[in-house]
This record gives sequence, structure tokens and C-alpha cells, in this order.
Amino acid sequence: MTVILPGATLGVMGGGQLGRMFVHAAQQMGYFTAVLDPDADSPAGRVSHHHIHTDYTDVDGLARLAGLADAITTEFENVPAPSLEHLAASRPVSPGGDAVAIAQDRIREKAHFVRCGVECAPYAVIETAAQLAAVPQDLLPGILKTARLGYDGKGQRRVATRGELEAAWRDAGGVACVLEKLLPLDFECSVIVARGEDGQMVHFPAQRNLHRDGILAVTEVHADSLPFSTARHAISAARSIAEGLSYVGVLCVEFFVLADGRLVVNEMAPRPHNSGHWTMDGCDVSQFELQVRTLAGLPLNPPRQHSAAIMLNLLGDLWFLDGDTPVPPRWADVLALPGTHLHLYGKTEARRGRKMGHLNITGESIEAVRSTADFAAAVLGLPIPLSE
Ligand code: ATP
Ligand code: MG
Repeated sequence: MTVILPGATLGVMGGGQLGRMFVHAAQQMGYFTAVLDPDADSPAGRVSHHHIHTDYTDVDGLARLAGLADAITTEFENVPAPSLEHLAASRPVSPGGDAVAIAQDRIREKAHFVRCGVECAPYAVIETAAQLAAVPQDLLPGILKTARLGYDGKGQRRVATRGELEAAWRDAGGVACVLEKLLPLDFECSVIVARGEDGQMVHFPAQRNLHRDGILAVTEVHADSLPFSTARHAISAARSIAEGLSYVGVLCVEFFVLADGRLVVNEMAPRPHNSGHWTMDGCDVSQFELQVRTLAGLPLNPPRQHSAAIMLNLLGDLWFLDGDTPVPPRWADVLALPGTHLHLYGKTEARRGRKMGHLNITGESIEAVRSTADFAAAVLGLPIPLSE
């Protein structure tokens, strides 16, 4: 395996906030960076040494990226898998197009979970009217999810009856979908692993996540954020899922914990994840540094959490608390609170529902961190209480 040492150039497909934080981590270690993103004003493009603004399938753009970068990764899962395969002909690419293609398609993703022996929500594949008609009654009420291109709860509809299911599938344009049984959730959690080409694998502690309106709102990580056996189970499931893909890179696996305590896998993301942003301030190595290390073929040390941590997502809504003219939140008041770390993604325009940044809060005890987080939420105008 080739090791790509600092001084070389690392490339990333996608210029969003995840790409920006990857670029920061790479530059901190002395790499040059190249970003491919069609948007001339992307968060990662603005801070990268090189920025190629072409479409993700543009052959010339891909050739320029491969010409600049010694190895290439991705920051979003809907990057065209054939583009990754195209790049892989001339440069090391991780994660590989095959793993990304599985994560892009809920039908293939669920089949992979089943293959790995990890339980997922009962579901049915709906690609044809005949499959729609044959859906077992006990999957209702359920959630109809498009197989491809869903994120932040988009491409999903709750359905209670066969009539609603049929209407929802029609409204989705009759594309490939899965119908998932609606499960009684106690809470949600995720596990992030990093795996090198040599098979070495490390993981972060299991993270407890709270979603609002289908978007991650709060992540909390401390010694008691999950029952010990649930955390252990989630970590071993995430590791088998990565192992089963011969995955190289950072992978996030999201889970549901049901009212009866059962752990059920929801989905995976072939990249660093919003629920892992706390690692930037709560661990001795962040998920983005591990992405750099896996891409460059560098050793992976097991991450050590040194602080209890809470991450608050900062959506554009916080700019519009007093009407339709955007007003920036009171950053100075938030930063006066102990253990607060502000991360903003450099997006010029705030919009409702848009991820603008996140606030990490770290401290010695979760009680102290929670009380600071409550203060911060009050200053920012976030809904309180932060937990359910
Ligand atoms: P993202 O990729 O941003 O995490 P997504 O659009 O892929 O979101 P999912 O993760 O599938 O969506 O679902 C979004 C949220 O909806 C989940 O985090 C969970 O709160 C709820 N949800 C999804 N599926 C189920 C289910 N089967 N039963 C109960 N709740 C569910
Ligand atoms: Mg999700």
C-alpha cells in the first residue's frame, strides 16, 4: 500500500461543509487540497488550494482533479459512482465507487445490512405496481422512502393506509421505493468507523442523536449516553457493515433504538457525518483527520474521547427569529460560555433549513455540558429542552 505523505495533494469530490472540514484537516497536516464542485462559491472551494468548478461527471474536470490530486475522496454520497470509478483508473480513490453505489440505493443498502446479519426495519421493495399491490398489511402504518437521492427526510412520506401508500408512490413518480414499517423509537444513535486499506479499523463512541423535522438537531456523547450493551451492539454492527464492504474511509451507520430496547439499523453514509462533528473538539482525533489518514494510507490510532460533548446544529432558521430579514445569532454571547466551540461553514446566505454551522460544547461532566448547552440554546433561540 502506498503512503501519501504531507506535501502531496488530496482531492475531494464535493465542496459542501463536510468537504470544507476535510480540507481544513488535510491542510493542518501539511497537505495541499483540490476540490471539485460546480458551485463557484462552495464552502470547501473557498478554502482549498485548488477549486475545479465543473459538473461531477465532466470528463475534463475529472481529468484536472486526477492531474492535481494524489488521492481522492468524496464528501457527499450522491456523487456519481461512475465518476469515482473513472478517477480510480488513475488515482487511489476511497471510499470506492462500489461501496458508495450501495449506500446510494436504499434497496441495495438494506440487502447489505441483511447480508451482514444486522437487523433493519421490516420493509418491502416497491419498484412495480405488482409489488405495490403485494405489500403485506403489517408494514402499515409505514414510511415510503425513495430508494435514491433522499436526505434530511426529503423523499419520505408517512402512510397509514393502502390508499395513502398508493397515492404516495404515484406522487413519487412511481420510482423505486422501499416501504418501511413505522417503528416505535425510543431514541436514535450512530457509530462512525474508519477503516484503512490494510483492514485496520477504529471507531468513535456511539453517539446519541436527536432529529427535528427529519434533520439532525443535537448529538450527545458521554459515558452514559447509551446503555452499555446497546452501544457495544451498535459498534459491532457498524464494524461488520464496514468489513462486509471491504470499506476504506470513514463510514457512519445510523440506528434506531426501539421502545423495547432493540437495536435496528437505519442507514449508512459513506463519509464523515453530521453526528460526528463533536469529535472535532471532544476527541483527540476528529472524523475528518481519520478521513485524511485513511485516504493517505497513514496509521489509524483508536480515537480517545477526552471530554463529554454536545453538538448543536445551527440551521439558517436561527437568522430569522424576528422576521424575514436575516439577523446573525448572538455569537459573542454564546462564546462567552465555557467550553463552546463555534464552527461556521462560510455560507454567505442564511436560509431556513440550511445547515450553516454547528456549536460544540465540551466539558468534564455531562451535567456541566448540558447546563451550558441549555444556556447556549436560549441565547441562540433554539427550542428547549434540548433532549426529549
Ligand atoms: P438523512 O440521510 O439526512 O439522515 P434521510 O432522508 O435519509 O435522512 P432517514 O434517516 O431514513 O432519512 O429518516 C429520517 C428520520 O425519520 C429518522 O432519523 C427517524 O427519525 C425517522 N424515521 C425514518 N424511518 C423510520 C421508521 N421506520 N420508523 C420510525 N421513524 C423513522
Ligand atoms: Mg438518516
